[in-house]
Amino acid sequence: MRFVAMPTEAARAYRAGGPDANGQPPERAVSDGMGNPCRHCLAMIPQGAGMLVLAHRPFSTLQPYAEVGPVFLCADDCPGGCGTGLPAMLASPDYILRGYGADERIVYGTGGVVPRDRIEVRAAEIFADPQVAFVHVRSARNNCFQCRIDRQGGRPESGGQPPHPRDI
Ligand SMILES: [Zn+2]
Repeated sequence: MRFVAMPTEAARAYRAGGPDANGQPPERAVSDGMGNPCRHCLAMIPQGAGMLVLAHRPFSTLQPYAEVGPVFLCADDCPGGCGTGLPAMLASPDYILRGYGADERIVYGTGGVVPRDRIEVRAAEIFADPQVAFVHVRSARNNCFQCRIDRQGGRPESGGQPPHPRDI
């Protein structure tokens, strides 16, 4: 499986002051070093580093299941964090994992809170259902979107979707 970060094109658009999912420019803040995970490099934003706070919709289609929520992003360029290992930013004791179909709607029965060290095991279990196209990792307490998990060699647009107004 592959952990998929926010597409670089979307991160660039936000850094350039482009509108977030609520049509507003990203807010600028400074990381306190505690719990500000960047959804592009998938690492914690270091203390004192500039960051953006914005509303992000991590779906490519507009439909009732396409939730919008707050995310942090390094204010300056950072490397894309897609990869096969558990991202460094996933430092909390547990997370919500939830499967979505190719139509980007929740596959009911897949959602639940999972200990951090079982994320990959649970994702593999969720992917055993062929209806599941991808999995979301969300914070267990606040439901904030963290990153997506694809099957290895999954969706061709993984991590590199072209800029699209509905996707940022
Ligand atoms: Zn970053």
